[in-house]
Amino acid sequence: MIAATYTQNAGYKIQDIPIPAIGDDELLVRVMASSICGTDLRIIQSGQRKLRDGQRVVLGHEFAGVVAQAGPKAADLFPIGMRVGVAPNIGCSRCSMCAKGLFNMCPDYSAFGINMDGAHAEYVRIPHASIQQGSVFPLPPDMPFVHAALIEPLSCVVNGNRSVSIQPGETVLIFGAGPIGLMHAMLARHSGAGTVAVIDTQPDRLDQAARVGIEHLIDPGRCDVAETVMRLTEGRGADVIITACSVPAVQEQSLGLLAPFGRVCFFGGLPKDRPCIRVDANLIHYKNLVVTGVTGGAPCHFRTALGLILDGSVDVSSVVSHTFDMNDMASAFEKALHGQAMKVVIQRQP
Ligand SMILES: [Zn+2]
Ligand SMILES: [Zn+2]
Repeated sequence: MIAATYTQNAGYKIQDIPIPAIGDDELLVRVMASSICGTDLRIIQSGQRKLRDGQRVVLGHEFAGVVAQAGPKAADLFPIGMRVGVAPNIGCSRCSMCAKGLFNMCPDYSAFGINMDGAHAEYVRIPHASIQQGSVFPLPPDMPFVHAALIEPLSCVVNGNRSVSIQPGETVLIFGAGPIGLMHAMLARHSGAGTVAVIDTQPDRLDQAARVGIEHLIDPGRCDVAETVMRLTEGRGADVIITACSVPAVQEQSLGLLAPFGRVCFFGGLPKDRPCIRVDANLIHYKNLVVTGVTGGAPCHFRTALGLILDGSVDVSSVVSHTFDMNDMASAFEKALHGQAMKVVIQRQP
């Protein structure tokens, strides 16, 4: 089968590899759509610490497909032909985070496309632990697979959204108008935010934000961000800020833009070689701020994300800029690595 693989310290490759064999209690899913994530690109560009030198992994953790083979102990729940989406993190099943179902927080988690074979391939093996941990979700027959592949990134956005408890009427500021930033903007609106503003340095990304109905677009190259935010909020500052980018200066700036009792979620991680920021801690003290962050999502967020897509609350199709046929996976990666793409999705013609 065709697969996009990454080998630690040897780079990525589109190659032909054997279709995975499955055990009695496992599934083989025929991948119908998989989307390329910034995480895939980061692995290609700088490796993955969970991989040993020379270890090869099939990339891809945002996907949906159809059960192609089911082991006898898995077929009752997930028969051949069932359409499924899969939350990609698998926990150790023994720690306090796993006890809460927060497999993304397990200190010893595994994940598709990270340290086990993922879904930028014709088929993906679903291990028993995924089934057991409630990470395999049946999908309704009319849900497009391209939308279903985006349940996973939206699940991470749901996790971030919950961490800042947006209240009706609040002002929400989102740094970064990439796919994640736009999903945050749409979800903030759904959470009842009164004013949603998106900040990005790329005009075409702001245009895309305008197309999904975000009315306040801020280009830091053309105006003063602090001044604009204060004008929008009558001098109070934003109630909530979400940083959907990996820029240390944005995190530093965010605290000064918050209103009293404001909350900021550092959604995007910082580059590994520049993880430190300088902040005025008295802003947190005097304004009673909450500074938080999230990483990934858990099956509970995945379930919520699925519902938000199905009921039309978040239009994930609006963040898809390119789709490529599975036979043209190389072009998909080319576009994601070098183009100014939003979300790039690889799909198989039914
Ligand atoms: Zn992702
Ligand atoms: Zn665990």
